[in-house]
Amino acid sequence: MPHNQWRLTVVADLTGKVILVTGGGSGIGAGIAKVVAEHGAQVVITDIRLEAAESIATEITSAGGLALGLQHDVTSGDSSRGVVADATKRFGRVDGLVNNAGISNRVPFNEMDEDEWNRVINVNLNGVFHTTRAVVDQMIERRSGRIVSNASFVGLRGIPLFSHYCASKFGVMGLTQSLAVELAPYDITVNAVLPGVVRTPLWEPMLDKAAAAGGITREEAWAGAIAPIPLGRPQEPDDIGEAVAFLLSDKARNITGASMNVTGGQLLH
Ligand code: NAD
Repeated sequence: MPHNQWRLTVVADLTGKVILVTGGGSGIGAGIAKVVAEHGAQVVITDIRLEAAESIATEITSAGGLALGLQHDVTSGDSSRGVVADATKRFGRVDGLVNNAGISNRVPFNEMDEDEWNRVINVNLNGVFHTTRAVVDQMIERRSGRIVSNASFVGLRGIPLFSHYCASKFGVMGLTQSLAVELAPYDITVNAVLPGVVRTPLWEPMLDKAAAAGGITREEAWAGAIAPIPLGRPQEPDDIGEAVAFLLSDKARNITGASMNVTGGQLLH
């Protein structure tokens, strides 16, 4: 693990912190889990797919880090309380929560039914409620904590064909800003990270639909997705991980209610 003394002096140091990452079995969440472990954190990786969570935990422990994989459905209060209890039993406390689990789908609004709407809102918005609610009491008691939610740049500006996804992410932004003020007296910071375009398994079915709708190949659909990025390249899971590690660290102690874009400049011009 690249974890030497020089690195610790210049990067966000998370040594000894216990960080719980939801949806950490894939894509951006797996990237966040690995980066925060590299920065010294003990990581609890939760995912609805236990084997995925365990596999990322094994990668981290094989590299000399400390990690635990747990099964978690963020749409359930019971499941969320269960993982927080298990994490606290194993590591003593949860210092930082990363609300990362999320799903998406490309659906024209006139084809959107109630089940589809509720499915996305339940994971992306209600999931942030359940997991944050499960962890906040111990943070209030200790008068210390860090909460970072993975929203999206479409949490600031709506795009077509993703109305439920955009609404869920705007909801995450509102919850973040409200809690930032409410929890500030307890020295708990609450922030959002806003990725732009990261090629993860989340994208694959959406690329299929975009390709079919446009009569193009999926790689042409991908090229279309990344074309508007001013820096000219998509983001990688590690890019989001570094931003999250900073927001979780003591270096960010006076940052709360913020939204950190990691979009390569997209929507900032
Ligand atoms: P991904 O599909 O690779 O990973 C999502 C993970 O969440 C999976 O491991 C999945 O099993 C898990 N998950 C799904 N439902 C769950 C549930 N009910 N409870 C617990 N875990 C559950 O997707 P990703 O691209 O890594 O997305 C991660 C987050 O980043 C999401 O919130 C997404 O909205 C956000 N995001 C992604 C992008 C992008 O371009 N990929 C851009 C902006 C924001």
